[in-house]
Amino acid sequence: MGFEFKLTDNVMYVKGVGPKRAAALEKLNIFTKYDLLTHYPRTYENHSNLTRIVDILEGETVLLVGKISNITAREARGLKIINAILEDATGYIQLTWFNQNWLLNRLRHGMRLLVIGKAKFDSWSNRLSMSQIQSFTILEPDEEPELGIMPIYPSTAAISQSVLRTAIKNLLATMPPLKEILPQELLNSQKLISIDEAARTIHFPQDFLELDKARRRLAFDELFLIQCGLMLIKRQNQDERLGITHKKNGALVKAALAKLPFELTGDQKKVFRAVSKDMENKLPMRRLIQGDVGSGKTAVALLALVKTVESGYQGAFMAPTEILANQHYEKFSALLTGLGIRVDLLSAKVTRSKKMRDEIYQKISSHESDIIIGTHALIQEGVTFAKLGLVVTDEQHRFGVTQRLTLEKKSDALPDMLVMTATPIPRTMTLTVYGDLDVSLIKELPPGRKPIKTFGRGISDKKKIYEFVREEIMAGRQAYVVCPLIGRSESERLADIESAEEIFDTLSNGIFRDVPCALLHGRMKPRDKEEIMEKFHGGEIKLLVSTTVIEVGVDVPNASVMVVEHAERFGLAQLHQLRGRVGRGSEKSYCILISDSTAGVAKARLEILEKTNDGFKLAEEDLKLRGPGQFFGEAQHGLPDLKIADVFRDVEILIQARDAAEKFITDDENLNYFANLRQNLALAYGDKFGQITAN
Ligand code: ADP
Ligand code: MG
Repeated sequence: MGFEFKLTDNVMYVKGVGPKRAAALEKLNIFTKYDLLTHYPRTYENHSNLTRIVDILEGETVLLVGKISNITAREARGLKIINAILEDATGYIQLTWFNQNWLLNRLRHGMRLLVIGKAKFDSWSNRLSMSQIQSFTILEPDEEPELGIMPIYPSTAAISQSVLRTAIKNLLATMPPLKEILPQELLNSQKLISIDEAARTIHFPQDFLELDKARRRLAFDELFLIQCGLMLIKRQNQDERLGITHKKNGALVKAALAKLPFELTGDQKKVFRAVSKDMENKLPMRRLIQGDVGSGKTAVALLALVKTVESGYQGAFMAPTEILANQHYEKFSALLTGLGIRVDLLSAKVTRSKKMRDEIYQKISSHESDIIIGTHALIQEGVTFAKLGLVVTDEQHRFGVTQRLTLEKKSDALPDMLVMTATPIPRTMTLTVYGDLDVSLIKELPPGRKPIKTFGRGISDKKKIYEFVREEIMAGRQAYVVCPLIGRSESERLADIESAEEIFDTLSNGIFRDVPCALLHGRMKPRDKEEIMEKFHGGEIKLLVSTTVIEVGVDVPNASVMVVEHAERFGLAQLHQLRGRVGRGSEKSYCILISDSTAGVAKARLEILEKTNDGFKLAEEDLKLRGPGQFFGEAQHGLPDLKIADVFRDVEILIQARDAAEKFITDDENLNYFANLRQNLALAYGDKFGQITAN
């Protein structure tokens, strides 16, 4: 009797994977057979056609097989250079590797190599050479080179491509056909190949057409699953039994309104009305507030939190960074303590000491605390709320769906939930990340805001720029200087980029010698960061050189100038967020983007920033300019990990998958597919979508 094949089995059950390789695979987040199966190639190399050396055309990327000889090593201009001659039956070519001295221990005279790269013909020496070697494989003496399309996997130094390839091959060889999750009609109507075929083909396609079909099927499934998950959650959340009914706004909310140092804008009022209505409804609120930086989302969140307290519940506020959590805490407690509302901060600073942590956990679980502000420490194990009524997530794209869901599971009843985001999100993105939410917009900015003047300038203007910054500081204002990199080790790799440390050094010892300056970056201890932010906030520090740690929400109204060094290295959305740090007070504010990049797109982006302060308009323009991918930057979009789909490239598939998911869930009344769907969700996302029930 054979053993049953389970995708949840440990990857060690795959032939060719022992404890050592399993440990290496863990580094790639591969623990189970399923993880290995869905460890998709990051790219493919076309090894279909072998070229004879005599047939090489200049500049062409070619695949060669031959024997090597004349292996030599030398040094020139600080480079370590290895040369060898590769020879086949028709001719020879010189191979060159740079700075890869370890090869000397591997390459041997007479060895057979398979090499891919671009060949050059030097008419002076009349010789063929290849110095741009994309990849090469050492072949056993009688090994036939494997031709075809070669998958290239994400890998680490500890695990080679060929080990990964072999492991996946062995897995596929023993894997019984995968069970179809989609109904046949859907496959037909969407022209999708079977899941089993797709899962195999994606690793070892015969040709690129086949590969394309496999990719489309897997991307469809991935997006389809997420959509189903989100829809099931939404449906579950519409279960009246689970929600909380908040009271109508009473004396406490009115008192908080009166305490705000300003009148709400029309949009803020409108959004707070919508939020109040949601909260008073028995159905759990799931609402997203989209509004540009500084549009006053936090004020709305504050009122909603007061509302939950007035109804006898606790509110949680999750900020994306420590600095922000601190800042919100200061503001909220200043405003609310007078009203008898108990506000607490759960941050790294607090949880560093076990005693303090236990104390605050205790306060939260015994309802001695009304509003708790924190970072994702708030969703860590051990925090139990006595009576959680509202969760606000100040998201800024740093929390994904899955984290949001984890928080949701923290209480028996479903608390109302408000998500805030500053970056304007294209509709298709909203579908994927926020498919389970209703959306409100704040478009109007608070009155009296002076638009930030933005200038793009070249490096040659630096002296003048910093003289201007100095004048502003002498006039009593404060300034930010933002740099893309922290320190030297990184800047060595990018030799022409000055790091924050270097810039700080130059400025604080140069033109700002007599001005209190500080350096702030993400690798500093939280304690030190807090101290610097406090001093900057208090006006003790005048010039703050930093990395993007200040990006989100930091509020120092007296800061009126921001200089961004190497502005071309930031995304447009990011620059817009950064710029939002100034222009928060009554002074005229400036943002100066320094860049020598003359690349068309980089320049056009800076010009867009010069022209408009409107985040939504900016998003549109940038989408037109470069496609959506770069607007957000890689790690910022907060999507659940997509292994194969790309919400930007696959917009069409996304929309099809969404429609299909909707129909699927509605049609599947008899739950014919439900068990399978749930199993697949669990395989792909663990319990991140929560306990999904059938109705
Ligand atoms: P967001 O969270 O949307 O980035 P905030 O709520 O932090 O914006 O508001 C930005 C700044 O504007 C804060 O200093 C806040 O006190 C102020 N502000 C908010 N709403 C108003 C308003 N209606 N009138 C005047 N100032 C406001
Ligand atoms: Mg409600």
